[in-house]
Amino acid sequence: MAKERFGAWKNQTSVHLTQPSALDAFLAGLGDIPHDTAPNVVAAKSRDFFWYSPILKERLADCLGDVVVTPRSEADVVAIARLCAAHRVPLTARGGGTGNYGQAVPLHGGVVLDLTGLAAIGPLVDGTIRVGPGAKLKDIDLAARPQGWELRMFPSTYRTATIGGFVAGGSGGIGSITYGVLSERGAIAGARVVTCEAEPRVVELRGYDAHRVQHAYGTNGIITELEIPLAPAQPWVEIAIAFTDFMQLARFAETIGRTDGIMKKLITAVAWPIPRSFGTLKADVPEGSALGLFMIAAATLAPFFELAEAFGGETVYRRTDAEVAASGAVPIFEYTWNHTTLQVLKRDRDVTYLQSAFPSLELVAEMNERFGDEVMQHLEFVRSGGELAIRALQVVRYTTAERLNEIIRIHEERGCPVFNPHTYVIEDGGRKITDPAQLAFKRVADPQGLLNPGKMRGWTPA
Ligand SMILES: Cc1cc2nc3c(=O)[nH]c(=O)nc-3n(C[C@H](O)[C@H](O)[C@H](O)COP(=O)(O)OP(=O)(O)OC[C@H]3O[C@@H](n4cnc5c(N)ncnc54)[C@H](O)[C@@H]3O)c2cc1C
Repeated sequence: MAKERFGAWKNQTSVHLTQPSALDAFLAGLGDIPHDTAPNVVAAKSRDFFWYSPILKERLADCLGDVVVTPRSEADVVAIARLCAAHRVPLTARGGGTGNYGQAVPLHGGVVLDLTGLAAIGPLVDGTIRVGPGAKLKDIDLAARPQGWELRMFPSTYRTATIGGFVAGGSGGIGSITYGVLSERGAIAGARVVTCEAEPRVVELRGYDAHRVQHAYGTNGIITELEIPLAPAQPWVEIAIAFTDFMQLARFAETIGRTDGIMKKLITAVAWPIPRSFGTLKADVPEGSALGLFMIAAATLAPFFELAEAFGGETVYRRTDAEVAASGAVPIFEYTWNHTTLQVLKRDRDVTYLQSAFPSLELVAEMNERFGDEVMQHLEFVRSGGELAIRALQVVRYTTAERLNEIIRIHEERGCPVFNPHTYVIEDGGRKITDPAQLAFKRVADPQGLLNPGKMRGWTPA
């Protein structure tokens, strides 16, 4: 898509800002709110990790905002939203810019709203923490721990991603094996959201209502504060176990997932040759081995290792999270979730990935057999709706878009749903349908369709 002129959001029936002076007039309206139009800054802040996908890489390469605006407060966000509504300028919110599907890429120019400045953390009351959307997950976790609490779940981009970006663009991650994924009721306690109207409002969404902005890609409001329920903090131990056979590892991982007496934060299983790309960890992995990566509470190590021995696994790595933090080593979770794909991409640019669900280990075995090294198995075990669930982020050797679509089709025909990571449209990814509550909220919060336009298919101008 060719870059359009400032503010030219073509689905609008009202005035387009296509005059050369439009940007200057808009910038004057920002007053002292920090902003930057330097091309290198705008280009850097108009991107995320969409390049994992060869399809999105081609599609989004030329999409740029016009100005990066960095609010210092909720009042600034309200002023920016008011200005965008008045000038009919698109506004795309952004946290750490680590999304994988071009969620934070402005398709129609306009404002890139960098929310990393709204990074307040606390207070923490009764196990729930109040945070600004720009607070990094790691910083929130580290602030909660001395008070005996920790994040229930975080993406493997813990060190760089923001809580606002996680809520608006993420799905789950480390911790989801115990606490479920972000869409589960109870994962978010509340959200303050600024609307994009002529006179923007600050809306408080409590309880499940806060899910109206969860995984909505910032299309129906700008999150300015979140309340996140925490979990009691544990000393965790990072463990890697090698198996000669991938399916034996998968059975072991599933057993750990089903053993409620073992407290866990991470259960990942990857097939060879994926571990060959695992940075410093690879030296410990025997050639040809499948690798299980785990975070287990110190209190329940004994039953974990009993089962590892019974299944014939070989422990190749074991460190407490305190040792990892003190040594500055790469945390084990940076080999899991979508970091697995990144580790392989660092070595081999000809791969991409899938995201899917396996209803059973039999289907994992079938797909493993069928595709071999073309679709390298990578399983993540989570709880979903109260049940153990097998998710996968398979690393795919990419040849053509047609072959990728064929692989997706075969999985779906065999009953393995694919949450397509090669699209920036919300509905075409995981959900397949427009969430009616999210759409209804967008109709009131963003009547002109200025928030991250082009990402929610279900929205059409009134
Ligand atoms: C190596 C790697 C590993 C990853 N692992 C995981 C994983 O384990 N689990 C997972 O779920 N994801 C994962 N991701 C995707 C991504 O890192 C996470 O979803 C992350 O939480 C996004 O946070 P962010 O601050 O970078 O958000 P951004 O990428 O900046 O934004 C994400 C979306 O949220 C919107 N947004 C941001 N802030 C706001 C706000 N204040 N109000 C409204 N909308 C907003 C943006 O418009 C965008 O649509 C991974 C990505 C990479 C590259």
